[in-house]
Amino acid sequence: MATVLEQDIKYLPGVGPRRAELLLKELGVGTFGDLLYTFPFRYIDRTKFYTVREVHADLPYIQLRGKIVHAELIGGTRPGQKRFVAYFSDGTGTIELVFFQGIKWMQEHLKMGVEYIVFGKPGDFRGKINIVHPEIDEPSNEKSGIQGVLQGVYHSTEILQNNGLGQRAFLKLQANLAATVAGKITETLPAWLLHEQRLMPLPEALYHVHFPQSVELLAQARFRLKFEELFYIQLGLLRQRLVRIDATPGFVFSTVGDSFNACYNQLPFPLTGAQKRVIREIRKDMGSGKQMNRLLQGDVGSGKTLVALLCALIANDNGYQAAIMAPTEILAQQHYESIAKFLEGTDIRVGRLSGSTKKKDRQVLSEQLLDGSLHLLVGTHALIEDTVQFKNLGFVVIDEQHRFGVEQRARLWRKSKGEHLPHVLVMTATPIPRTLAMTLYGDLDVSVIDELPPGRQPVKTVHFRENKRLRVVGFMKEQIKAGRQIYVVYPLIQESEKMDYQNLEDGYENITQAFPPPEYVTVVVHGKMTAEDKAAGMQLFVKGKAHIMVATSVIEVGVNVPNATVMVVESAERFGLSQLHQLRGRVGRGAEQSYCILMTGYELSADSRKRMALMTSTNNGFEIAEADLQIRGPGDMEGTQQSGMPINLKISDLAKDGQLLEQVRNIAFAILSGDSDLSSEKNALLCSRLKQIKSSMANYSEIS
Ligand code: ADP
Ligand code: MG
Repeated sequence: MATVLEQDIKYLPGVGPRRAELLLKELGVGTFGDLLYTFPFRYIDRTKFYTVREVHADLPYIQLRGKIVHAELIGGTRPGQKRFVAYFSDGTGTIELVFFQGIKWMQEHLKMGVEYIVFGKPGDFRGKINIVHPEIDEPSNEKSGIQGVLQGVYHSTEILQNNGLGQRAFLKLQANLAATVAGKITETLPAWLLHEQRLMPLPEALYHVHFPQSVELLAQARFRLKFEELFYIQLGLLRQRLVRIDATPGFVFSTVGDSFNACYNQLPFPLTGAQKRVIREIRKDMGSGKQMNRLLQGDVGSGKTLVALLCALIANDNGYQAAIMAPTEILAQQHYESIAKFLEGTDIRVGRLSGSTKKKDRQVLSEQLLDGSLHLLVGTHALIEDTVQFKNLGFVVIDEQHRFGVEQRARLWRKSKGEHLPHVLVMTATPIPRTLAMTLYGDLDVSVIDELPPGRQPVKTVHFRENKRLRVVGFMKEQIKAGRQIYVVYPLIQESEKMDYQNLEDGYENITQAFPPPEYVTVVVHGKMTAEDKAAGMQLFVKGKAHIMVATSVIEVGVNVPNATVMVVESAERFGLSQLHQLRGRVGRGAEQSYCILMTGYELSADSRKRMALMTSTNNGFEIAEADLQIRGPGDMEGTQQSGMPINLKISDLAKDGQLLEQVRNIAFAILSGDSDLSSEKNALLCSRLKQIKSSMANYSEIS
């Protein structure tokens, strides 16, 4: 039997089939429950009144108290032009109330000289402040109205508004719903937890979130609903982690032997403390008998590649092969080269495989992979083609994981034979704020390299507009004269691809004019080039034979040219914060002072200004990621779209509710530590509720 919350929304008084269709299409509301869980995004204090004189177009919804002094019908030759205008005055001034619909009703019912309360959002029409389609109430009605002290404001759409489902009608629906479901809502958290955390019971919370009778009650209601929302996500994720760990045995790599030591002992520098700690964490996982699923976060240049390599060597020491997968050809090549260099003089055999690997070479690789004579394979997603077979793959590293789809990643560990899955290390240089990581990767174990190798000078970042162009060119020449190299990066996005390529071409042209060959060598690298041309351009730059590399953001990840000291980002306002930070990470990799120059247009949006200010004030990737989360919200952050995780939550906000998130994660953790499969009587409700929620959510267990 369907519960009241599962009832079709069309049966709610005031809805009916036509509105039901609209609600579903516009807001995804199909049931009573959906509507009940459509919360106000803001509240208006119905005790506060503005005066007409104070009103300006930037104000949110406001209330005025006054009288209509005059009204008239204007226009009318063409449909849509006709409007009814009421002139509303409170003694401090007069404002126009404008109606395009319901004109006849207004004409018949509005009374002159009677005190009204007007409620609406001020707007600006040709320099004049007005309010379109305000609510108008007589003060006596107001007091007996459905709302409490605070009135909820709901997200709406133009289509809903044009179909009689504006704020006011929506509130009425919520009121009808509140009456319908009263006494029929069952609690979703166990009594002991409510008691322990002093949480408001669900029926009350759902009432007060829509019709708060006081600020205090609203706060309690919202807290309870946020708590529940975040709590069940964390309980689900942590439970999933336990199930995974329980169900997935892993190869036991107990020895650290010759391979590891051979490489370790000839490193040209000591590992940083953070690198050592992370290797210890990974070693522990790999020795546990359970499959490792670990995310390694570390700012650009923090030395993740070496960590991956050393752990791969531990796999080798235990008789297993390892694979390292990078998202682009260029990166795979760089990984291969730096790894080969670390392994020089050892007898560890490393191969490379990418889309451009010749058939003959593939053949050889294949044989060596199968007979086990190749220990380590570095490559692009060519690694996951079915034709690539290992003798015994025991450890997989996925660099810049957000560039790979879930399916690609899943294919990689199906390559392992038998019942054991290879240990998986996922690496990212896109620092993810803690709260987001806890949700996106809540079922993974997370390691963080939070320390850069010593001796790195922080990159100096400046923001210039076009008028400083000459200065920038002069500066670039100085740097080239001192033997350094320079990146110039242009934005490239799909929607404006054609124009972006044009800008890149123009930019290249300008640069070759300002930096004429043969004195200066400039190369171009972008996604439209063939793999060979790209590689050739890259190689010139990597080998120090080109002074300037003009590129699209293909160089954003991974590329390592320590002699490059200047990163010029063109149209920097078009890049996201984490992208800018990634780009900046391409310089500052050697001993010399490095610079990042952000070039923008003159007119910048408030958000762009914030981004530029942040970039010039900090080098800390985690700080930047945190700010990015605050500015853009979780849904637009890099790497979150593909995840399938519910990060756009109904009431919680990962940018603001970090503390609560930590709290509920700890509570969930404590519950599971005492009762890992939630089988005790005390946790019966949690168990059944979790099942219910899970069946309505995507399976993201293969996120890593
Ligand atoms: P990322 O974390 O961005 O992948 P890389 O692994 O590319 O960073 O490392 C950046 C550079 O730092 C490389 O040239 C690498 O050889 C060097 N490096 C790594 N670890 C250390 C260390 N402990 N001390 C000094 N340099 C290091
Ligand atoms: Mg890297």
